[in-house]
Amino acid sequence: MKQDKKKPIKGIRIKNANFAMIFISCILYVMLITATIHASNRYKDVEKAMDTYVACEECDALLTSGSAYLTEQARLYAVTAEEQYIENYFTEVHVTQRRENAVEKLEACYDNEEVYGFLQEALKSSNALMEDEIYAMKLVATAKGKDMASLPEEVQQAQIIEEDLVLSQEGMIEKAQEMVFGSEYQSAKEEISGHVEYFMDSIQNATNQRMVKSADNLAKTMSQQRILISILFIESIITFVMIIMLIVKPLQVYVNCIREEKMMEITGSYEFKYLALTYNDIYEVNTTNEAMLRYQAEHDPLTGLINRGAFEQLKQIFRTKSGPLGLLIIDVDKFKLVNDGYGHEMGDQVLKRVAKLLGESFRTTDYPARIGGDEFAVIMANVSEDQRVIIEEKITNINAALLHPPEGMPAVSLSVGGAFSEEGFTDDLYHKADFALYDVKEHGRCGCRFYDKNHEYQEHCKDKKDS
Ligand code: GH3
Ligand code: MG
Repeated sequence: MKQDKKKPIKGIRIKNANFAMIFISCILYVMLITATIHASNRYKDVEKAMDTYVACEECDALLTSGSAYLTEQARLYAVTAEEQYIENYFTEVHVTQRRENAVEKLEACYDNEEVYGFLQEALKSSNALMEDEIYAMKLVATAKGKDMASLPEEVQQAQIIEEDLVLSQEGMIEKAQEMVFGSEYQSAKEEISGHVEYFMDSIQNATNQRMVKSADNLAKTMSQQRILISILFIESIITFVMIIMLIVKPLQVYVNCIREEKMMEITGSYEFKYLALTYNDIYEVNTTNEAMLRYQAEHDPLTGLINRGAFEQLKQIFRTKSGPLGLLIIDVDKFKLVNDGYGHEMGDQVLKRVAKLLGESFRTTDYPARIGGDEFAVIMANVSEDQRVIIEEKITNINAALLHPPEGMPAVSLSVGGAFSEEGFTDDLYHKADFALYDVKEHGRCGCRFYDKNHEYQEHCKDKKDS
């Protein structure tokens, strides 16, 4: 059963389909994992940008509050001359250092040099303003006659210009207050705020842009992920459909074909088609062999007619079928003489000729059989007594042919006994035909008679019936 030598089989090979699906799945999964890693990085970018934004806001608050605190303490000292405010002021300058901390943090989270310059400028202006504040504090301390040694170094080192030294106590305080409350001070502060605000705006814009960019990238990567997941889903569906079409369905079809003992449908993958074609070849050979064996089992090898065994089976079949039926039992007359006079082989030729004439004379729905050495029978389905004349005619014709054989062949004749039944093959039908046959034999052979219930048959025939 070499299918390869026959016409080529067209079909998808499971091996190739499987390899292709595994390959595509691997590529899709690698792409999906890469997209997921990208998405996670983009998410981290967004998170980082947001953290920077929040940190900037905090620094802004720190810077503003530190600066405002210094102003507040300087002003309070200028008004009250209480040393506590000087202490607070310098604690902020040297210890708390909100402005410096804020600038340091901002520098770490924002690396644009140009914009960062504005912050440095603001810090410089703020420091310059501090000098005015310290000078104002020195003026107040001098006016109030404070012990300079107890004041912070910066205040001690501040030099009062000559023009102010000549001022009265009130004049000095007035000047000091003017320095920390006046419009010049205010506009310097506003300038610093302007720088800080500009810096913060820049930071916010840049951070915003970073956030928007990262969010865009994240959205793009996530849409890639969605596409990949959709493709994977479609690929899974295709895989399931392929499994159903190439494997499951053909298997179901094949199981049904085996159950119903029929040839397989050529369907499914290349491998299944190959299997089906091979199975069909084996099935064909088996069926032919089976038919041959059955034929051999049912037919007589010499005459080709159905044999005794098959005749017995037919009897059983017709027993179950009601309806009219005719039976003939045929015996060749004085056949022993043929064998003795012409040899066994010629006897076989005569038997074959008898069989041939029987086969040709009866209908295809009738069953001529060889049931013994020179004994034949015919079961005639759907035949009733009113057709006896036709049957007798057939026998007469066969006998006429046998009595005028081809050259070299001995003339023979047939004795035929028949019987009819209206309800299939009854138990006594065979014996009735047999009685009729022996009646023919008793009355000179070469003829056909049917069983007649009113006729008195010879004793030995009755014995046969009884047996
Ligand atoms: P009758 O008219 O009474 O039937 O006489 P007969 O000589 O025909 O007697 P019978 O029917 O009993 O003889 C049948 C003979 O057929 C006996 C046997 O030698 C012969 N025979 C049986 N089978 C075969 C066969 O296959 N071939 C041949 N050539 N002869 C066979
Ligand atoms: Mg005989």
